[in-house]
Amino acid sequence: MKYNRILLKLSGEALMGDQEFGINGERLLEYANEIKQVVELGVQVAVVVGGGNIFRGLAGASEGMDRVQADHMGMLATMINGLALQSALEESGVKTRLQSAIEMDKIAEPFIRRRATRHLEKNRVVIFGGGTGNPYFTTDTAATLRAIEIDADVILKGTRVDGIYTADPEKDSTATKYDTLSFKEVYEKGLNVMDMTAFTLSKENKLPILVFDMNTPGNLTKVVKGDVVGTLVQN
Ligand code: UDP
Repeated sequence: MKYNRILLKLSGEALMGDQEFGINGERLLEYANEIKQVVELGVQVAVVVGGGNIFRGLAGASEGMDRVQADHMGMLATMINGLALQSALEESGVKTRLQSAIEMDKIAEPFIRRRATRHLEKNRVVIFGGGTGNPYFTTDTAATLRAIEIDADVILKGTRVDGIYTADPEKDSTATKYDTLSFKEVYEKGLNVMDMTAFTLSKENKLPILVFDMNTPGNLTKVVKGDVVGTLVQN
């Protein structure tokens, strides 16, 4: 196995499937099945879910809402997604724990690093909800932070595009995909991999980022086995 402990970042929007909003049950089960396959290979899996399918702080703020208040709503949205993913995983027979950056002890454990790594060692999937627990941050930053804290081998950014391209492939048909990039190249070429806070945190801590298409069945398994899938960013 190329990677033994992974942190998978799923955006909230990925959970919408072809809907405009909210959570698509079928999509959720597909993702649960992808995750189950790698758990069965003995890979330790932590997941950070976004909240953009329900609420984004910036959208609230642009309508006049207090930004901190709006970000609190966004962080709660990630907990809703976390609970939904937990439910789908358990339905598929995968043992899980949900840990929240914001204490809500009736529905999730608080985030405790040592406890999280212990769960991983017992092959439980640990879902980290509530982002970093702080306003003005994103779940990409939360994913990077947690990946470093639990000493993950890589952060896997599951998207609907199969990697990083020279230009947006949905807008420019001449765009070509990179198999690998260095952190420096991403800066120099001005490529958009994650927001700058998350990206810098990854770079400074030498945490590789792999961007891949999570919607193609079997891709997550290929990634952990080391097949060339997506784009790998590393030093
Ligand atoms: N959020 C936050 N702090 C964090 C992570 C998230 O305040 O550490 C809020 C922020 O309002 C953000 C929302 O939660 O817009 C949802 O997260 P994000 O936009 O990162 O989700 P994604 O784009 O991955 O679906």
